[in-house]
Amino acid sequence: MKRAILTLSLILAPLLSQADIKIFACEPEWAALAQEIGQQHVDTYSATTAFQDPHYIQARPSLIAKVRNADLVICSGAELEIGWLPVLLQKANNRDVMPGSSGYLETSGLVERFDATTNLDRSQGDIHPQGNPHVQSDPRNIAVIAKTLAERMRELDPANAADYQAALADFLARWDLAISAWEEKGVSLRGKLVITHHKSWVYLERWLGLIEVANLEAVPGLPPTVGHLSTLSAKFEQGGADFIIRSPYQDARASNWLSERTGIPELELPLTVGGSDRATDLFALFDEIIDKLLAAAK
Ligand SMILES: [Zn+2]
Repeated sequence: MKRAILTLSLILAPLLSQADIKIFACEPEWAALAQEIGQQHVDTYSATTAFQDPHYIQARPSLIAKVRNADLVICSGAELEIGWLPVLLQKANNRDVMPGSSGYLETSGLVERFDATTNLDRSQGDIHPQGNPHVQSDPRNIAVIAKTLAERMRELDPANAADYQAALADFLARWDLAISAWEEKGVSLRGKLVITHHKSWVYLERWLGLIEVANLEAVPGLPPTVGHLSTLSAKFEQGGADFIIRSPYQDARASNWLSERTGIPELELPLTVGGSDRATDLFALFDEIIDKLLAAAK
C-alpha cells in the first residue's frame, strides 16, 4: 500500500508542480504563442475566447485575481483592451505586470501598426485611434512577437533560459516553413476584393495581397447601420467584391443581409485560436483561414 501511494505521488508530482511563469494573455493567440515558447514551464490563461469581442469585456473579479497572480501579462495593446485591462491592472495591484515592467508585453507595439489616425477625436466612434491592434492576422507578425516573448521569458525565468531559446528556435523553424506553404497555397487569392465586418483583417490582407473595398461598420467599432448597409447594397449590387468576411463573435445578420442582396459570398473566419473546431493552435488557425478563403474564392 505504501508503495502504491509512493508510486502515485511520483506520477502526480509533475502535474502538481508550480509553473515557472504564470501568464495572463488578453487574447487566445497570445496564450497559444506563450504555450509554444514556454512549453512545460508556463501556465497560460486567456482572458477572452475566440467567441468574444476583445474590444468589449467585463473586468470580472476572476480576471482581477488572475492578473494579481500573473508573472507576465501579454496583450495586443493599441487600446484594444482599453475598456477593461487598465481596470484589471489597477485592481490587481501587481507591480510585476504593470506597463513598463518586464512582466508586461504589448504585442502590437512590436510590429508596424497600420492606420494610426492623426484625428484624436473619438466622437466618430473609431476604436482604433492608435492604429489597428489586430496584428495576429499576419503570421509574420507572430514570428517577430515570438522573439520578444522568448526574451521576456528568459528574463523572468533565467533558470530555464536554454529551454525557452530551444523552443523558440523550434517554433520559428516550423513557423517559417508553414508561412511559405500558406503563401504558396494562397497565391490565387492575390488581388481578391474583400468586404469585412470590422477592420479585423488589414494585416492578413497585406500579407496575402487581398484588397479591402468596404467594411460593414462605417467606422471601426460602430455597429453596421441600416443606412450604411443600404449604401453598400447599392454600391455592390452588380458584384464588385469576392467575399464578405466576419469573425465568429460578430452578428451574422449584417453579412447575411448584404450577401443575399449582392450575391457576394460570405464566410466566417476565425480571428484567433479556438474560433473554429479545426483552429486548435496557431498552425491550424492559418490552415483554416487559407482553406476557407480558397473555398470561398472558387
Ligand atoms: Zn478592432
